[in-house]
Amino acid sequence: MRAEIVSIGTELLMGEIVDTNSAYLAAELPKLGIALRWVSKVSDDPEMMAEVLGRAWGRSDLTLMTGGLGPTSDDLTRETIARILGEQMTVQDDLLHHLKAQFASFGISMSENNIKQATLIPSSRAVANPIGTAPGWWVEKGGRIAVAMPGPPRELKRMWVNEVAPKLKEKSQGAAIVTKTWKTFGISEGGLNQMLAPLFHSTNPVMGIYARPDGIHLRAIATAPDAAKARALMEPMDAQVRQTAGNAIWGLDDDTPESLVAERLATRGLTIGTTECHTGGLLVNALTAHPAMADRLRGGIVIPSATLLESQGVPAGVISQHGPASAQVAEAMAQAARARLGAGVGLAISGIQSEGAGEDPVQICHVGFDVEGKRSSLRLRYPSRLMIIKERVVVQALLELLRLLK
Ligand code: AMP
Ligand code: MG
Repeated sequence: MRAEIVSIGTELLMGEIVDTNSAYLAAELPKLGIALRWVSKVSDDPEMMAEVLGRAWGRSDLTLMTGGLGPTSDDLTRETIARILGEQMTVQDDLLHHLKAQFASFGISMSENNIKQATLIPSSRAVANPIGTAPGWWVEKGGRIAVAMPGPPRELKRMWVNEVAPKLKEKSQGAAIVTKTWKTFGISEGGLNQMLAPLFHSTNPVMGIYARPDGIHLRAIATAPDAAKARALMEPMDAQVRQTAGNAIWGLDDDTPESLVAERLATRGLTIGTTECHTGGLLVNALTAHPAMADRLRGGIVIPSATLLESQGVPAGVISQHGPASAQVAEAMAQAARARLGAGVGLAISGIQSEGAGEDPVQICHVGFDVEGKRSSLRLRYPSRLMIIKERVVVQALLELLRLLK
């Protein structure tokens, strides 16, 4: 099944709204074994919409549209579909009745404009949207399918999950897609690409490589008539990746540094407390992202500047002797976090400090660990041009903690 996504709305082309709907749908299609070929964005202009939707209908087995189903005169998705299929839109009594009841339940009267939300063409069926006024359209003609869904992401997701995806699953039987992601840290994108060069020639599974804040991800997609066959195709690639890049792999698929830390703390029956300087709470925020952490996290101290280190239990002598961004201070911060918050593990991020002037200064940061009294630290060094230094510090702090907790 060749699929295409068309996102409709002038605001998308003005850069006012980011087209998250197409990214969401693109991530959903592999689960159904549907290959996405094209993604387009088009404004609310009727001529341009007709051009883009006509082309999509002509070349794709499945066209997924979002947006343009509202009641206003610039919401023209239904009109355009009717036009390219040469069919008449007619108001449906049952849809109109339902729409009126929905407005009544909100306690507002329905405007004339909304009537078009109760229309169908002979080739379309309504797709339920209980959380909005615009029903979707499921269009099927000559073996092709087009689905028009609402623009608001919340309505789109609900309609996709409850109505559209289950129907497409029935239609697309005969293909299964299995994906696998290996998450690495410490090897560059180019280095990893070179190490695994032969795997990038494989067409099934097909391999991709992506730089993310938590390192370089390798992602493979295998396609086969059923899931067991797709998994079998994945096995040799999995073995090869682990053999070659095993030391750099810290997680798979949905793993995050914080989810793995939460698991490991739970396994060891340990709690954690943090102190961080200059990262604005990013570390403790990451730790709160995982539900299992609720039982593990004793608290997080966030200080905006090194002048407050002493108030958080770092001895003045250590600060004056080694400087605020030092291994000794990071370890003392971790020790103090552990003591003050009554945790088994103290994790601390010292201030981030520029080092070396001139052309290319670097940013230095120390991470301190106190695991049940056993203290250590990590010195991190980043080029100043890196925009995501704080995020990187947090990822590396958590990955090192993961190693220490093994
Ligand atoms: P519409 O269904 O075209 O009236 O869209 C309603 C609202 O949904 C827009 O004002 C946007 O805020 C949002 N929206 C529409 N299309 C998208 C999209 N592709 N991605 C994210 N949000 C969208
Ligand atoms: Mg719109």
